[in-house]
Amino acid sequence: MTDLLNVLSIPPALKPPVESSHFAYKDLLGGEFWRRIPEYANVDEKTFLNYRWQTKKTIHKADRLLDAIKDLSPPGFIEDCEKGFQRAPMSVRVSPYLLSLIDWANPLDDPLRIQFIPVDSRFLPDHPQLGLDSLGEQADAPLPGLTHRYPDKALFLVIDTCPVYCRFCTRSYAVGVDTDGVEKVSLKANKRRWAQVFDYVASRPELEDIVISGGDSYNLRPDWIQEIGTRLLNIPNIRRIRFASKGLAVMPQKALTDDAWFSAVSEISDLGRSMYKEVAFHTHFNHSNEITEISARALRRFFDAGVKVRNQTVLLRGVNDTNDKMGTLVKRLGHINVQPYYVYVHDLVQGGEDMRTTVQTAVNIEKHMRGSTAGFNTPTFVVDAPGGGGKRGVHSYEYYDRKSGISVYTAPAVKQGQQFLYFDPVDQLEPEYQERWTHEGERTRMIESALEQARTNPK
Ligand SMILES: *Cc1c(COP(=O)(O)O)cnc(C)c1O
Ligand code: SF4
Repeated sequence: MTDLLNVLSIPPALKPPVESSHFAYKDLLGGEFWRRIPEYANVDEKTFLNYRWQTKKTIHKADRLLDAIKDLSPPGFIEDCEKGFQRAPMSVRVSPYLLSLIDWANPLDDPLRIQFIPVDSRFLPDHPQLGLDSLGEQADAPLPGLTHRYPDKALFLVIDTCPVYCRFCTRSYAVGVDTDGVEKVSLKANKRRWAQVFDYVASRPELEDIVISGGDSYNLRPDWIQEIGTRLLNIPNIRRIRFASKGLAVMPQKALTDDAWFSAVSEISDLGRSMYKEVAFHTHFNHSNEITEISARALRRFFDAGVKVRNQTVLLRGVNDTNDKMGTLVKRLGHINVQPYYVYVHDLVQGGEDMRTTVQTAVNIEKHMRGSTAGFNTPTFVVDAPGGGGKRGVHSYEYYDRKSGISVYTAPAVKQGQQFLYFDPVDQLEPEYQERWTHEGERTRMIESALEQARTNPK
Protein backbone atom coordinates (compact mmCIF):
# COMPACT_ATOMS: atom_id res chain seq x y z
CA MET A 1 0.00 0.00 0.00
CA THR A 2 2.69 2.50 0.94
CA ASP A 3 4.50 1.62 -2.27
CA LEU A 4 1.44 2.37 -4.31
CA LEU A 5 1.00 5.74 -2.56
CA ASN A 6 4.58 6.58 -3.34
CA VAL A 7 4.02 5.92 -7.02
CA LEU A 8 0.93 8.15 -7.05
CA SER A 9 2.40 11.03 -5.06
CA ILE A 10 3.38 14.28 -6.73
CA PRO A 11 6.90 14.06 -8.17
CA PRO A 12 9.56 16.42 -6.86
CA ALA A 13 9.29 19.93 -8.21
CA LEU A 14 11.72 20.61 -11.07
CA LYS A 15 10.42 24.12 -11.51
CA PRO A 16 9.71 26.67 -8.79
CA PRO A 17 6.01 27.27 -8.11
CA VAL A 18 4.41 29.94 -10.26
CA GLU A 19 3.56 33.21 -8.53
CA SER A 20 -0.09 34.12 -8.39
CA SER A 21 0.55 37.28 -10.43
CA HIS A 22 1.26 34.99 -13.38
CA PHE A 23 -2.46 34.25 -13.54
CA ALA A 24 -3.55 37.90 -13.84
CA TYR A 25 -4.54 37.19 -17.45
CA LYS A 26 -7.46 35.13 -16.16
CA ASP A 27 -8.90 37.93 -14.01
CA LEU A 28 -11.42 39.37 -16.44
CA LEU A 29 -13.23 42.50 -15.35
CA GLY A 30 -16.83 41.59 -14.55
CA GLY A 31 -19.73 43.09 -12.64
CA GLU A 32 -21.33 46.42 -13.45
CA PHE A 33 -18.06 48.33 -13.85
CA TRP A 34 -19.70 51.05 -15.95
CA ARG A 35 -21.65 52.38 -12.99
CA ARG A 36 -18.58 54.19 -11.70
CA ILE A 37 -19.06 56.67 -14.58
CA PRO A 38 -21.72 59.18 -13.41
CA GLU A 39 -23.46 59.11 -16.82
CA TYR A 40 -24.00 55.37 -16.57
CA ALA A 41 -24.57 55.10 -12.80
CA ASN A 42 -28.19 54.05 -13.31
CA VAL A 43 -27.70 51.81 -16.33
CA ASP A 44 -28.56 48.16 -15.74
CA GLU A 45 -26.82 45.18 -17.33
CA LYS A 46 -29.51 44.49 -19.90
CA THR A 47 -29.25 48.05 -21.21
CA PHE A 48 -25.46 48.06 -21.15
CA LEU A 49 -25.36 44.84 -23.18
CA ASN A 50 -27.72 46.22 -25.79
CA TYR A 51 -25.74 47.20 -28.87
CA ARG A 52 -28.40 49.71 -29.93
CA TRP A 53 -27.97 51.52 -26.64
CA GLN A 54 -24.17 51.38 -27.00
CA THR A 55 -24.42 52.75 -30.55
CA LYS A 56 -26.91 55.47 -29.64
CA LYS A 57 -24.80 56.58 -26.68
CA THR A 58 -21.51 56.53 -28.58
CA ILE A 59 -19.93 59.96 -28.36
CA HIS A 60 -19.06 61.58 -31.71
CA LYS A 61 -18.01 65.03 -30.67
CA ALA A 62 -14.95 66.08 -28.75
CA ASP A 63 -16.85 68.56 -26.58
CA ARG A 64 -19.48 65.94 -25.63
CA LEU A 65 -16.72 63.55 -24.66
CA LEU A 66 -14.99 66.13 -22.53
CA ASP A 67 -18.31 67.01 -20.93
CA ALA A 68 -18.84 63.39 -19.88
CA ILE A 69 -15.45 63.13 -18.18
CA LYS A 70 -14.88 66.62 -16.83
CA ASP A 71 -15.67 65.68 -13.21
CA LEU A 72 -13.65 62.48 -13.38
CA SER A 73 -10.34 63.62 -14.80
CA PRO A 74 -7.51 65.52 -13.10
CA PRO A 75 -7.10 69.31 -13.47
CA GLY A 76 -5.72 70.42 -16.82
CA PHE A 77 -6.65 67.22 -18.63
CA ILE A 78 -9.68 68.67 -20.42
CA GLU A 79 -7.66 71.60 -21.80
CA ASP A 80 -4.94 69.15 -22.84
CA CYS A 81 -7.55 67.14 -24.81
CA GLU A 82 -9.10 70.21 -26.38
CA LYS A 83 -5.76 71.17 -27.84
CA GLY A 84 -5.10 67.54 -28.79
CA PHE A 85 -8.34 67.33 -30.78
CA GLN A 86 -7.43 70.50 -32.65
CA ARG A 87 -4.24 68.89 -33.88
CA ALA A 88 -5.53 65.37 -34.55
CA PRO A 89 -6.41 64.37 -38.11
CA MET A 90 -8.97 61.74 -36.90
CA SER A 91 -12.67 61.65 -36.09
CA VAL A 92 -13.96 60.85 -32.59
CA ARG A 93 -16.09 57.85 -31.64
CA VAL A 94 -16.12 56.56 -28.06
CA SER A 95 -18.66 53.95 -26.90
CA PRO A 96 -19.91 53.84 -23.30
CA TYR A 97 -18.10 50.50 -22.94
CA LEU A 98 -14.81 52.06 -23.95
CA LEU A 99 -15.36 55.14 -21.84
CA SER A 100 -16.05 52.93 -18.78
CA LEU A 101 -12.78 51.05 -19.21
CA ILE A 102 -10.51 54.10 -19.08
CA ASP A 103 -8.93 55.02 -15.76
CA TRP A 104 -9.94 58.69 -15.62
CA ALA A 105 -7.90 59.27 -12.46
CA ASN A 106 -4.76 58.77 -14.56
CA PRO A 107 -5.87 59.24 -18.14
CA LEU A 108 -2.50 60.29 -19.56
CA ASP A 109 -1.03 56.80 -19.03
CA ASP A 110 -4.19 54.80 -19.64
CA PRO A 111 -3.65 52.29 -22.48
CA LEU A 112 -7.10 52.93 -23.96
CA ARG A 113 -6.92 56.71 -23.69
CA ILE A 114 -3.62 56.61 -25.54
CA GLN A 115 -5.20 54.75 -28.46
CA PHE A 116 -8.32 56.83 -28.98
CA ILE A 117 -8.07 60.27 -27.40
CA PRO A 118 -5.32 62.70 -28.45
CA VAL A 119 -3.71 65.04 -25.91
CA ASP A 120 -1.48 67.99 -26.67
CA SER A 121 1.05 67.33 -23.91
CA ARG A 122 2.23 64.03 -25.42
CA PHE A 123 2.42 65.32 -28.98
CA LEU A 124 5.64 64.66 -30.93
CA PRO A 125 6.42 66.02 -34.40
CA ASP A 126 5.94 63.52 -37.24
CA HIS A 127 8.95 61.71 -38.62
CA PRO A 128 10.45 63.64 -41.57
CA GLN A 129 9.99 60.59 -43.85
CA LEU A 130 6.25 60.24 -43.22
CA GLY A 131 3.69 60.20 -46.05
CA LEU A 132 -0.09 60.01 -45.56
CA ASP A 133 -0.66 56.58 -47.22
CA SER A 134 2.53 55.23 -45.72
CA LEU A 135 1.91 51.65 -46.85
CA GLY A 136 1.34 52.63 -50.48
CA GLU A 137 -2.06 50.89 -50.39
CA GLN A 138 -3.36 53.19 -53.08
CA ALA A 139 -0.37 52.60 -55.35
CA ASP A 140 -1.07 48.82 -55.28
CA ALA A 141 -4.81 49.28 -55.91
CA PRO A 142 -6.10 48.24 -59.38
CA LEU A 143 -9.51 49.55 -58.23
CA PRO A 144 -10.52 51.97 -55.48
CA GLY A 145 -10.59 49.97 -52.26
CA LEU A 146 -8.85 46.82 -53.51
CA THR A 147 -5.15 46.42 -52.76
CA HIS A 148 -3.58 43.54 -54.68
CA ARG A 149 -0.02 43.55 -53.41
CA TYR A 150 0.78 39.93 -52.64
CA PRO A 151 0.52 37.19 -55.26
CA ASP A 152 -2.41 35.19 -53.86
CA LYS A 153 -4.20 37.48 -51.40
CA ALA A 154 -5.82 40.89 -51.56
CA LEU A 155 -7.25 43.49 -49.23
CA PHE A 156 -10.80 44.65 -49.89
CA LEU A 157 -11.77 47.90 -48.17
CA VAL A 158 -15.54 47.63 -48.26
CA ILE A 159 -16.54 50.54 -46.10
CA ASP A 160 -15.03 53.71 -44.70
CA THR A 161 -16.53 53.88 -41.22
CA CYS A 162 -15.49 52.27 -37.95
CA PRO A 163 -17.06 51.74 -34.51
CA VAL A 164 -14.13 53.73 -33.09
CA TYR A 165 -11.40 55.86 -34.61
CA CYS A 166 -7.87 54.88 -33.66
CA ARG A 167 -5.10 57.42 -33.43
CA PHE A 168 -2.64 54.93 -34.90
CA CYS A 169 -4.76 54.09 -37.95
CA THR A 170 -2.83 53.45 -41.15
CA ARG A 171 -5.91 54.25 -43.18
CA SER A 172 -6.43 57.78 -41.99
CA TYR A 173 -6.23 58.55 -45.75
CA ALA A 174 -9.66 56.94 -46.09
CA VAL A 175 -11.60 56.27 -42.88
CA GLY A 176 -13.70 58.74 -40.95
CA VAL A 177 -15.18 62.05 -41.96
CA ASP A 178 -12.90 64.85 -43.10
CA THR A 179 -11.27 66.73 -40.26
CA ASP A 180 -9.57 70.10 -40.53
CA GLY A 181 -6.17 68.59 -41.31
CA VAL A 182 -6.88 65.81 -43.80
CA GLU A 183 -8.98 65.36 -46.96
CA LYS A 184 -9.95 61.72 -47.51
CA VAL A 185 -10.24 59.35 -50.45
CA SER A 186 -13.83 58.08 -50.75
CA LEU A 187 -14.30 54.40 -49.92
CA LYS A 188 -17.98 54.45 -49.06
CA ALA A 189 -19.97 51.23 -49.01
CA ASN A 190 -21.08 51.19 -52.64
CA LYS A 191 -22.44 48.20 -54.53
CA ARG A 192 -21.16 49.36 -57.93
CA ARG A 193 -17.66 49.64 -56.53
CA TRP A 194 -18.00 46.20 -54.90
CA ALA A 195 -19.23 44.64 -58.18
CA GLN A 196 -16.05 45.79 -59.94
CA VAL A 197 -14.01 44.24 -57.14
CA PHE A 198 -15.81 40.87 -57.51
CA ASP A 199 -15.18 40.94 -61.28
CA TYR A 200 -11.51 41.70 -60.75
CA VAL A 201 -11.11 38.91 -58.15
CA ALA A 202 -12.81 36.43 -60.51
CA SER A 203 -10.51 37.53 -63.34
CA ARG A 204 -7.34 36.73 -61.36
CA PRO A 205 -7.09 32.97 -60.78
CA GLU A 206 -4.05 33.40 -58.54
CA LEU A 207 -6.16 35.20 -55.90
CA GLU A 208 -7.24 32.73 -53.22
CA ASP A 209 -7.57 34.81 -50.08
CA ILE A 210 -9.50 38.04 -49.46
CA VAL A 211 -9.26 40.23 -46.36
CA ILE A 212 -12.52 42.16 -45.90
CA SER A 213 -11.69 45.31 -44.03
CA GLY A 214 -12.20 49.02 -44.17
CA GLY A 215 -13.19 50.78 -42.15
CA ASP A 216 -14.61 47.96 -40.19
CA SER A 217 -16.76 44.86 -40.75
CA TYR A 218 -18.67 45.75 -37.60
CA ASN A 219 -20.33 48.51 -39.57
CA LEU A 220 -21.50 46.23 -42.38
CA ARG A 221 -25.24 45.61 -42.51
CA PRO A 222 -26.17 41.90 -42.20
CA ASP A 223 -27.40 41.78 -45.82
CA TRP A 224 -24.07 43.27 -46.96
CA ILE A 225 -22.15 40.61 -45.04
CA GLN A 226 -24.29 37.98 -46.74
CA GLU A 227 -23.82 39.52 -50.17
CA ILE A 228 -20.07 40.08 -49.92
CA GLY A 229 -19.44 36.70 -48.31
CA THR A 230 -21.59 34.75 -50.79
CA ARG A 231 -20.20 36.52 -53.85
CA LEU A 232 -16.61 35.93 -52.80
CA LEU A 233 -17.09 32.31 -51.71
CA ASN A 234 -18.75 31.53 -55.04
CA ILE A 235 -15.69 32.66 -57.00
CA PRO A 236 -13.98 29.33 -57.79
CA ASN A 237 -10.41 30.54 -57.16
CA ILE A 238 -11.26 31.88 -53.67
CA ARG A 239 -10.31 29.47 -50.88
CA ARG A 240 -10.29 31.75 -47.81
CA ILE A 241 -11.95 34.95 -46.66
CA ARG A 242 -11.69 36.86 -43.40
CA PHE A 243 -13.64 39.70 -41.90
CA ALA A 244 -11.44 42.16 -40.02
CA SER A 245 -12.85 44.22 -37.19
CA LYS A 246 -11.78 46.39 -34.29
CA GLY A 247 -15.39 46.23 -33.12
CA LEU A 248 -15.06 43.32 -30.71
CA ALA A 249 -12.49 45.32 -28.76
CA VAL A 250 -14.61 48.42 -28.34
CA MET A 251 -18.19 47.13 -28.45
CA PRO A 252 -18.44 43.37 -27.80
CA GLN A 253 -22.14 43.95 -27.11
CA LYS A 254 -22.82 43.82 -30.84
CA ALA A 255 -21.76 40.19 -31.11
CA LEU A 256 -24.01 39.37 -28.12
CA THR A 257 -27.17 41.29 -28.97
CA ASP A 258 -27.18 42.14 -32.69
CA ASP A 259 -28.53 38.74 -33.66
CA ALA A 260 -29.06 39.61 -37.31
CA TRP A 261 -25.43 40.69 -37.67
CA PHE A 262 -24.05 37.70 -35.80
CA SER A 263 -26.25 35.28 -37.77
CA ALA A 264 -24.98 36.75 -41.03
CA VAL A 265 -21.37 36.12 -39.97
CA SER A 266 -22.08 32.60 -38.76
CA GLU A 267 -24.15 31.72 -41.87
CA ILE A 268 -21.32 32.82 -44.15
CA SER A 269 -18.97 30.73 -42.04
CA ASP A 270 -21.29 27.73 -42.46
CA LEU A 271 -21.57 28.37 -46.18
CA GLY A 272 -17.80 28.45 -46.46
CA ARG A 273 -17.45 25.22 -44.50
CA SER A 274 -19.98 23.49 -46.77
CA MET A 275 -17.72 24.45 -49.70
CA TYR A 276 -14.53 23.44 -47.83
CA LYS A 277 -13.47 27.10 -47.76
CA GLU A 278 -12.27 28.93 -44.67
CA VAL A 279 -14.12 31.92 -43.22
CA ALA A 280 -12.36 33.57 -40.28
CA PHE A 281 -12.85 36.63 -38.15
CA HIS A 282 -9.90 38.86 -37.26
CA THR A 283 -10.07 41.06 -34.20
CA HIS A 284 -7.83 43.88 -33.05
CA PHE A 285 -7.19 43.86 -29.30
CA ASN A 286 -4.16 45.90 -28.18
CA HIS A 287 -4.33 45.72 -24.39
CA SER A 288 -5.64 43.22 -21.86
CA ASN A 289 -7.92 45.91 -20.36
CA GLU A 290 -9.98 45.73 -23.55
CA ILE A 291 -10.88 42.13 -22.72
CA THR A 292 -13.61 41.83 -20.07
CA GLU A 293 -16.20 39.24 -19.06
CA ILE A 294 -18.40 40.75 -21.75
CA SER A 295 -15.73 40.14 -24.41
CA ALA A 296 -15.30 36.56 -23.18
CA ARG A 297 -19.04 35.97 -23.60
CA ALA A 298 -18.94 37.46 -27.10
CA LEU A 299 -16.02 35.23 -28.05
CA ARG A 300 -17.84 32.16 -26.75
CA ARG A 301 -20.54 32.92 -29.28
CA PHE A 302 -17.99 32.77 -32.12
CA PHE A 303 -16.51 29.59 -30.68
CA ASP A 304 -19.94 27.97 -30.45
CA ALA A 305 -20.63 28.89 -34.06
CA GLY A 306 -17.32 27.34 -35.12
CA VAL A 307 -15.87 30.62 -36.43
CA LYS A 308 -12.09 30.79 -36.15
CA VAL A 309 -11.02 34.06 -34.50
CA ARG A 310 -7.53 35.50 -34.75
CA ASN A 311 -6.14 38.74 -33.42
CA GLN A 312 -3.86 41.42 -34.84
CA THR A 313 -2.21 43.86 -32.47
CA VAL A 314 -0.34 47.08 -33.08
CA LEU A 315 2.76 47.53 -30.95
CA LEU A 316 2.12 50.82 -29.15
CA ARG A 317 4.39 52.79 -26.86
CA GLY A 318 2.92 53.00 -23.36
CA VAL A 319 0.22 50.44 -24.24
CA ASN A 320 1.81 47.06 -24.89
CA ASP A 321 5.54 47.71 -25.35
CA THR A 322 6.80 45.69 -22.39
CA ASN A 323 7.16 41.93 -21.97
CA ASP A 324 4.64 41.96 -19.12
CA LYS A 325 1.95 43.90 -20.93
CA MET A 326 2.32 41.98 -24.18
CA GLY A 327 2.54 38.72 -22.24
CA THR A 328 -0.72 39.35 -20.41
CA LEU A 329 -2.46 40.29 -23.66
CA VAL A 330 -1.22 37.20 -25.47
CA LYS A 331 -2.20 34.83 -22.64
CA ARG A 332 -5.59 36.51 -22.18
CA LEU A 333 -6.34 36.18 -25.91
CA GLY A 334 -5.53 32.48 -25.78
CA HIS A 335 -7.72 32.18 -22.68
CA ILE A 336 -10.78 33.44 -24.59
CA ASN A 337 -10.08 31.27 -27.66
CA VAL A 338 -8.57 33.97 -29.82
CA GLN A 339 -5.36 33.12 -31.63
CA PRO A 340 -2.74 35.90 -31.44
CA TYR A 341 -1.68 36.16 -35.09
CA TYR A 342 0.37 39.30 -35.70
CA VAL A 343 1.94 42.15 -33.76
CA TYR A 344 2.59 45.05 -36.15
CA VAL A 345 5.29 47.58 -35.59
CA HIS A 346 3.39 50.88 -35.68
CA ASP A 347 3.22 52.39 -39.18
CA LEU A 348 4.42 55.89 -39.89
CA VAL A 349 1.14 57.72 -39.33
CA GLN A 350 0.43 61.42 -39.01
CA GLY A 351 0.05 62.51 -35.38
CA GLY A 352 1.04 59.08 -34.04
CA GLU A 353 4.73 59.54 -33.29
CA ASP A 354 4.24 59.34 -29.50
CA MET A 355 2.88 55.79 -29.92
CA ARG A 356 5.62 54.38 -32.14
CA THR A 357 8.45 52.20 -30.83
CA THR A 358 11.78 51.13 -32.30
CA VAL A 359 12.29 47.95 -34.32
CA GLN A 360 14.63 46.87 -31.52
CA THR A 361 11.70 46.98 -29.04
CA ALA A 362 9.73 44.64 -31.27
CA VAL A 363 12.70 42.28 -31.63
CA ASN A 364 13.17 42.16 -27.85
CA ILE A 365 9.53 41.50 -27.05
CA GLU A 366 9.20 38.81 -29.69
CA LYS A 367 12.23 37.06 -28.27
CA HIS A 368 10.51 37.05 -24.90
CA MET A 369 7.13 35.85 -26.22
CA ARG A 370 8.54 32.97 -28.24
CA GLY A 371 8.45 29.91 -26.00
CA SER A 372 6.14 31.42 -23.39
CA THR A 373 3.02 29.66 -24.67
CA ALA A 374 1.79 27.42 -27.50
CA GLY A 375 3.55 28.17 -30.76
CA PHE A 376 0.25 28.70 -32.58
CA ASN A 377 -0.69 31.28 -29.92
CA THR A 378 2.59 33.14 -30.32
CA PRO A 379 2.16 36.18 -32.57
CA THR A 380 4.59 36.93 -35.37
CA PHE A 381 6.06 40.41 -35.07
CA VAL A 382 6.08 42.24 -38.40
CA VAL A 383 6.93 45.55 -39.96
CA ASP A 384 4.57 46.52 -42.76
CA ALA A 385 7.27 47.99 -44.96
CA PRO A 386 6.52 51.58 -45.99
CA GLY A 387 6.24 51.95 -49.75
CA GLY A 388 4.41 48.67 -50.34
CA GLY A 389 6.89 45.93 -49.40
CA GLY A 390 4.23 44.25 -47.30
CA LYS A 391 4.67 42.51 -43.97
CA ARG A 392 8.23 41.51 -43.09
CA GLY A 393 9.28 39.58 -39.98
CA VAL A 394 10.93 42.19 -37.73
CA HIS A 395 14.12 40.13 -37.48
CA SER A 396 14.49 39.81 -41.23
CA TYR A 397 16.03 43.22 -41.91
CA GLU A 398 18.96 43.25 -44.31
CA TYR A 399 20.51 46.00 -42.22
CA TYR A 400 19.54 47.92 -39.08
CA ASP A 401 21.38 51.01 -37.89
CA ARG A 402 20.21 51.46 -34.31
CA LYS A 403 21.88 54.88 -34.12
CA SER A 404 20.02 56.50 -37.01
CA GLY A 405 17.00 54.23 -36.42
CA ILE A 406 16.93 53.13 -40.07
CA SER A 407 16.13 49.53 -40.95
CA VAL A 408 16.23 48.14 -44.49
CA TYR A 409 14.05 45.25 -45.64
CA THR A 410 13.58 43.38 -48.88
CA ALA A 411 10.51 41.46 -50.00
CA PRO A 412 11.50 38.97 -52.72
CA ALA A 413 8.01 37.42 -53.05
CA VAL A 414 6.33 40.81 -53.35
CA LYS A 415 8.65 43.32 -55.03
CA GLN A 416 11.81 41.59 -56.19
CA GLY A 417 14.94 43.72 -56.18
CA GLN A 418 13.52 46.66 -54.18
CA GLN A 419 14.62 47.92 -50.79
CA PHE A 420 12.20 49.19 -48.15
CA LEU A 421 12.97 51.45 -45.24
CA TYR A 422 11.48 51.76 -41.78
CA PHE A 423 12.38 54.59 -39.42
CA ASP A 424 12.45 54.41 -35.62
CA PRO A 425 10.91 57.43 -33.87
CA VAL A 426 13.45 60.23 -33.73
CA ASP A 427 12.84 61.04 -30.04
CA GLN A 428 14.12 57.56 -29.12
CA LEU A 429 17.55 58.17 -30.69
CA GLU A 430 20.66 59.60 -29.08
CA PRO A 431 20.77 63.45 -29.13
CA GLU A 432 23.46 63.53 -31.83
CA TYR A 433 21.26 61.54 -34.20
CA GLN A 434 18.12 63.51 -33.30
CA GLU A 435 20.08 66.56 -34.41
CA ARG A 436 21.14 64.91 -37.67
CA TRP A 437 17.50 64.20 -38.59
CA THR A 438 16.77 67.93 -38.53
CA HIS A 439 19.11 68.58 -41.49
CA GLU A 440 17.95 67.57 -44.94
CA GLY A 441 21.44 66.80 -46.21
CA GLU A 442 22.20 64.62 -43.20
CA ARG A 443 18.95 62.70 -43.67
CA THR A 444 19.86 61.86 -47.24
CA ARG A 445 23.33 60.78 -46.16
CA MET A 446 22.00 58.51 -43.38
CA ILE A 447 19.45 56.91 -45.70
CA GLU A 448 21.92 56.38 -48.54
CA SER A 449 24.46 54.90 -46.20
CA ALA A 450 21.91 52.43 -44.80
CA LEU A 451 20.83 51.35 -48.29
CA GLU A 452 24.45 50.89 -49.30
CA GLN A 453 25.24 48.82 -46.18
CA ALA A 454 22.22 46.62 -46.88
CA ARG A 455 23.42 46.01 -50.46
CA THR A 456 27.05 45.35 -49.71
CA ASN A 457 26.82 43.86 -46.26
CA PRO A 458 23.44 42.11 -45.79
CA LYS A 459 23.15 40.20 -42.56
C1 LIG B 1 -2.02 42.15 -44.41
C2 LIG B 1 -2.44 42.17 -45.79
C3 LIG B 1 -2.95 41.00 -46.39
C4 LIG B 1 -3.06 39.69 -45.64
O1 LIG B 1 -1.81 39.19 -45.27
P1 LIG B 1 -1.62 37.97 -44.26
O2 LIG B 1 -0.17 37.93 -43.99
O3 LIG B 1 -2.13 36.75 -44.95
O4 LIG B 1 -2.43 38.27 -43.05
C5 LIG B 1 -3.30 41.08 -47.73
N1 LIG B 1 -3.17 42.24 -48.42
C6 LIG B 1 -2.67 43.37 -47.87
C7 LIG B 1 -2.51 44.59 -48.69
C8 LIG B 1 -2.31 43.38 -46.53
O5 LIG B 1 -1.85 44.50 -45.96
S1 SF4 C 1 -10.96 50.46 -36.47
FE1 SF4 C 1 -9.28 49.86 -37.87
S2 SF4 C 1 -9.67 50.98 -39.80
FE2 SF4 C 1 -10.92 51.93 -38.16
S3 SF4 C 1 -9.69 53.59 -37.34
FE3 SF4 C 1 -9.24 51.83 -36.06
S4 SF4 C 1 -7.45 50.85 -37.02
FE4 SF4 C 1 -8.34 52.27 -38.52
